[in-house]
Amino acid sequence: MEIALIGIGKIAADQHVPAIAASDDWQLAATVSRAGSVEGVDAYTDFDALLAERPEIRVISLCLPPVPRFDYATRALKAGRHVMLEKPPGATLSECHALEALARAKGVSLYATWHSREADKVAAAKEWLSGKTLKSFRVTWKEDVRRWHPGQDWIFEPGGLGVFDPGINALSIVTRILPDAIHLSGATLHVPENRQAPIAADLNFYHPGGADVSAVFDFRQEGEQTWAIEAVTEDGTMQLAHGGAQMFVDGVAHGATETGLHGEYPRLYANMAALVRAGGIDMDLSPMRHVADAFLLGRRETVAPFEF
Ligand code: NAP
Repeated sequence: MEIALIGIGKIAADQHVPAIAASDDWQLAATVSRAGSVEGVDAYTDFDALLAERPEIRVISLCLPPVPRFDYATRALKAGRHVMLEKPPGATLSECHALEALARAKGVSLYATWHSREADKVAAAKEWLSGKTLKSFRVTWKEDVRRWHPGQDWIFEPGGLGVFDPGINALSIVTRILPDAIHLSGATLHVPENRQAPIAADLNFYHPGGADVSAVFDFRQEGEQTWAIEAVTEDGTMQLAHGGAQMFVDGVAHGATETGLHGEYPRLYANMAALVRAGGIDMDLSPMRHVADAFLLGRRETVAPFEF
């Protein structure tokens, strides 16, 4: 299937282009970008021109930051194209619901991707937790925003999510592996005095079985980066490390121990191919709901100004 990539920035170059190139399902037929391009691929600067001139391209993958995404997604869906959304699927929950309604009305596929859910050990972690009694569940997601989002001022603007940009990846794993429905019970958001979005956050969740469920997100982590989840149950302790690429049960590694995003984007594109073939829609917004709740309920604390 021919596909067009929109927004040729960091994640498009790092992950989408190689994942498409390695896939038997997809052919990268065009890009839309104000400045970037991919060697050997038709480059457009005007999205409407692409939609009008290339009717054979049935699938559009949007790699833009969340705020401009709705406008592009709407135009693609109205033009009858299937759409794949980078995470988070939009800037608000309501616009994501609107996109889903539009996709249903047009009879096309729509996929809210959550790349961290495709990390190597997420499925095994879900299986291990199934049927176990949870005592505590702790998420620690600490990374260096200068390293992963160099100069991306949009991330600290309204709708950019701040530290919830990586934090929502953790929440996408949590909502996939936890057997019980949790909801936010309290949060503290640490907002730099010169920015609109938090640079760190502490979250607590209500768990129906009374387990202690919490998360800490921090964008100021230099040196070693931490993307970890620890679940303590009555039958042992399970740890996910490296964003779900590694899993340990009572300290013993479960299978191979890869690091990095390896495998995540190829799986997203395989999922999208299956969705288009089946005519399906996958718009699970549960990770975003927790983030919205944190912005609704969180206590704001002003912290030192931040510059890239
Ligand atoms: P980015 O490099 O800052 O931006 C991606 C591209 O979006 C830009 O190069 C630009 O493309 C386009 N764009 C930016 N602002 C725009 C606007 N106002 N209107 C139209 N186009 C605009 O960001 P990124 O790191 O690739 O992140 C994009 C998305 O991927 C985010 O939602 C992020 O959460 C997600 N993501 C990022 C990472 C990561 O490690 N950085 C990892 C996983 C997922 P053109 O210049 O080509 O027009």
